[in-house]
Amino acid sequence: MPCLMSLISVYKGILVDERIRKGDHLLQIMLALEDVFEGFCSTCMTECQPPLGAESSSRLSCLLDLLEVLVALRIELKLNVSLCKRVLSVILPQALNLMSVPVPYFVKKQVILVLKRCLLYKAGEDFLPSPHNLFNQQDAALDEELAVLATTLLNAVQQGWLLQVPSCGRSSSFGGANEGSEPGPDLVILGAASLSVLKALEIQFRNKACGGIGQGDAEFSEMPVYMAHLLNFLKRHLGWKEPVHFCEWVSLTFIEQDDDMLEVAKSLLQMYLHNPRLHSSTSGDENDIWKLPSHQCGMNPHCIFLLLLKNVLFDASVLLDFLISSETCFLEYFVRQWTCHGHKNAVHMWIHQWCLVQKMISNHYFHTVKAHPL
Ligand SMILES: [Zn+2]
Repeated sequence: MPCLMSLISVYKGILVDERIRKGDHLLQIMLALEDVFEGFCSTCMTECQPPLGAESSSRLSCLLDLLEVLVALRIELKLNVSLCKRVLSVILPQALNLMSVPVPYFVKKQVILVLKRCLLYKAGEDFLPSPHNLFNQQDAALDEELAVLATTLLNAVQQGWLLQVPSCGRSSSFGGANEGSEPGPDLVILGAASLSVLKALEIQFRNKACGGIGQGDAEFSEMPVYMAHLLNFLKRHLGWKEPVHFCEWVSLTFIEQDDDMLEVAKSLLQMYLHNPRLHSSTSGDENDIWKLPSHQCGMNPHCIFLLLLKNVLFDASVLLDFLISSETCFLEYFVRQWTCHGHKNAVHMWIHQWCLVQKMISNHYFHTVKAHPL
């Protein structure tokens, strides 16, 4: 373990100090590890037999730290070396299996958090002085590696992976419960797992749209299936009771994490706009607005936007803070939310949003909130 910690310190030093980057020290260290690192990671992750001692648990945690640092090097420095590339496309997909083995809760939570940060292009955000926003910069090789990770995650979700994700008590401090905090699910791990699945869906959807014979609106028909897995997972931990309005999941899960809530809202909006099947009712009853597929899947953007406004108590100063903050994607989300009315379904969406507001104000909404306070 001292070796792992030393490597982490060296790599972090290289990440935060541009003067050290200029030499070829980094490549020398990388090449020395290339042949053995993947095998070492695989051994650490597959030999988790109970009881797992404190030292083994700490080594796994340290290894996860190192994996995140390597992804940060890959993203921040565009380091196109095999070691970094294999972390995203081989080693992190293997780490998903840790959900099904008896490792301590804090290790499983760390896996989910590292996964989320990698899929958001935010690896190393806790220690980088000023992470660069590379999301919009083209890096085809990096996109391919992330696509492998996203596909592995979505395949695992299809096979019940989310049911193995634990949520032990409310905890905002890493690895331990806060004394005096109210009992409840660990919203940090629930939120990170949900956001990871959505980002994986977005990556897969984007790839499908790009490869879809030039069609901007490539439909992603599997979306409702994945959303059903996600909603089942959340229902189990949040203690939802029927009947329930599924779009509430965003504001319930991310009530303490504004930045992640906005990432989720933006992601759902993006996928909604490109899935025409979500816009129309399958019941044939146009008056029953709650039966629209987008509500049943918990991803109606108008609903989510209104519930988000409710979360901040319709306080204009909070919204202004969000707009000028560089720590959230609210500005981008806000612009997309309102420019989406320039979409080809603009008239339908305007009518839908207006009907929704009316319905919410008239009865259903307040009854729901009264029965299930946010
Ligand atoms: Zn809804």
